[in-house]
Amino acid sequence: MIEIRKKLKTIFGYDSFRPLQEEVITKIVAKEDALVIMPTGGGKSLCYQIPALVFEGLTIVLSPLISLMKDQVEQLTQLGVDAVVLNSSLLPEEYAHNFNKVKTNQAKLLYLAPESLFKEDIQWLLKAVQLDCITVDEAHCISEWGHDFRKEYRMLGALREKFSSAVCVALTATATPRVQDDIIKNLKLVNAKKFVASFDRKNLFLQVMPKLDPFSQTAEFLNEHKNQSGIIYCFSRRQVDELHENLSRIGFSTKPYHAGLGDGERAANQDLFSNDKVDIIIATIAFGMGINKSNVRFVIHYDLPKNLESYYQEIGRSGRDGVRADCLLLFSNSDTAKINYFINQKEDAAERHSAKVHLEAMVRYAEFDDCRRKPLITYFGETYSQSNCGMCDNCITEAKESEDITVAAQKFFSAVKRTGEIFGAGYVIDVLAGSENEKILRNGHQKLSVYGVGKEYTKVQWKQIFTQLLNKKYITRDVEFGSLKLAASASDVLFNNEKVFGRAEAKVRSSAKRLMIKEDYNEELFEMLRQKRRQIAESRNIPPYVVFSDRTLIEMAKEFPNDEFQLSKISGIGEKKIKTYGAIFLSIIKRYSDRTNITSNKPPVKTKISGAKRYIEVAEAFNKNNSIAAIAQNMNVKKETIIKHLYDYVQKKNKLNPQLLLSEIELKKEIQENIFAEFRSEGVGSLSVVKEKFGEEVTYDDLHILRIMFLNNQS
Ligand code: ADP
Ligand code: MG
Ligand code: ZN
Repeated sequence: MIEIRKKLKTIFGYDSFRPLQEEVITKIVAKEDALVIMPTGGGKSLCYQIPALVFEGLTIVLSPLISLMKDQVEQLTQLGVDAVVLNSSLLPEEYAHNFNKVKTNQAKLLYLAPESLFKEDIQWLLKAVQLDCITVDEAHCISEWGHDFRKEYRMLGALREKFSSAVCVALTATATPRVQDDIIKNLKLVNAKKFVASFDRKNLFLQVMPKLDPFSQTAEFLNEHKNQSGIIYCFSRRQVDELHENLSRIGFSTKPYHAGLGDGERAANQDLFSNDKVDIIIATIAFGMGINKSNVRFVIHYDLPKNLESYYQEIGRSGRDGVRADCLLLFSNSDTAKINYFINQKEDAAERHSAKVHLEAMVRYAEFDDCRRKPLITYFGETYSQSNCGMCDNCITEAKESEDITVAAQKFFSAVKRTGEIFGAGYVIDVLAGSENEKILRNGHQKLSVYGVGKEYTKVQWKQIFTQLLNKKYITRDVEFGSLKLAASASDVLFNNEKVFGRAEAKVRSSAKRLMIKEDYNEELFEMLRQKRRQIAESRNIPPYVVFSDRTLIEMAKEFPNDEFQLSKISGIGEKKIKTYGAIFLSIIKRYSDRTNITSNKPPVKTKISGAKRYIEVAEAFNKNNSIAAIAQNMNVKKETIIKHLYDYVQKKNKLNPQLLLSEIELKKEIQENIFAEFRSEGVGSLSVVKEKFGEEVTYDDLHILRIMFLNNQS
């Protein structure tokens, strides 16, 4: 017990275990078989690496891809752990060298491809040494039900019997029970305990935006993620090439990745990405499996994924280091239609149906108006009971006061009913909008009483209203055809005076940046440390994240350690890394401190801030481009409280960024001017007088912000 905790700190440099790691390790060390199911980035490797260090003999690790094995061995070598790989990609002298290391008990871990396992020399070797642990990584490859079945994995069953004194541990991120059963059966695990970790990746920020102008939306998002690594997933190769061309033309560092490129070019582009020499990979779904890069900071879905499994797997490639990563999905109905079109090409009816059910779940997620983790996590069979995750767009946008949308709902229901409950949302909305499209005229629907009665809202607003009605289960949507039907509850709204509350916002959020809350660290120092990391990586021919993770650099840029002891407290710095890199990084930090006189960037401890100083903290956060809603969320207070602090700030003749203030209100310029005129003539003492004058046109929130703007202009 003490031993494994000590190894965690001294070798890996971590202070605590991630969920289930300790339980799994204890089990394996006791030589009992285990099946470990953890999401990508959950920390599966540690589960067998620590036991390998405890065992006297050898641990072998079977892994499907040479690039993954190489990566793991490099990481371990950097930690001072003796690990080697034996596979066909090695030069003969390298092979002989590694072979000899295992033979003479100098290696604790041996990485192997399953197909090498039954080669004569390897079989001889495994018998010649004491084999204590057999690890099967990416164990879903053994199942035909998994997404990347590999023939060679089937041979692994024989192994368990041959080396019965070794413990066997299988690891995967695949959640389906059928695959899990397959693994246990095929690997012949003995009384294996199954460890299933939660699939909630708390550090992924989930966001969906309507796909209006995808190129500008993407460019805007990328501008908010300068110098960061990320992946953009597209539906087709053509889209990948086009986006790559257009983004690189306006100065973004991108490379394409898809099955249409030659093997050489694909591998080269992946390497550039892994080594931080290219920021962004634009890819079809072909990209991801062979990559261990821990500092992927964002994933954009330029097109809608076909199902939640793919979506989850793709966003899962970001944020493995536990640092926040941003996942943006651009969603449009035409993408849904496009995928449906391809599904309809499938011959098999059952397959078609299942694909549509999966697509429907994906669309539901995109249209969901409450915490996005609910549909996502429950899809994987977990219950999700938290009410606000604080890490998705819906949770951090404060609910706009619910409007009474009963009349709109009634209109929508009538249109569904009158058109015979056989059309999709787009058509129903066209009828409400009084559109003269050919299909409507052909069906004679321009003669219906509901035709054109919805002109008070735009189509985008109607779409939003529809989604809410769907989410509230007043309407059902046919999986196969997308046609809408009324549920029984809709008649209560139509005939029994039941009210519906919701939103019908005129403006759709267009930018991601207002949702960002940056972690507090010194960005200038971080950038210098990052440069050094890249230099070192290049000279040693290893990926930068193998030298140090982003988390480690962020902590350095927060804590400003000034000696080896302080350095050792930073996450991810074990004894070996201090020896190898300690002096270099300490000297960068020292030089930076000397030059700038900054000695730490620790955020002030919140509870210790006196009330008097609070408004300064709030104002500074605001000026750093955090929205009022986001700050309120972060500090766990009401929006009004934040507004009050900003008011205090400008009253003391301090200045806020006027541009940011402007983006907090949605009022016509003209009304703003009129209100300012009012402030000038009547003073800013009483907002209720102004409110009376302008009535419904402005809210109190608007008035409060306008007053701040007014004072801000004067200061
Ligand atoms: P998986 O194989 O489950 O996708 P990895 O084993 O590659 O995940 O781990 C992902 C990242 O998390 C790695 O950078 C690893 O160093 C880090 N990590 C693992 N366990 C811990 C821990 N207990 N504390 C901090 N970081 C950890
Ligand atoms: Mg792994
Ligand atoms: Zn949420």
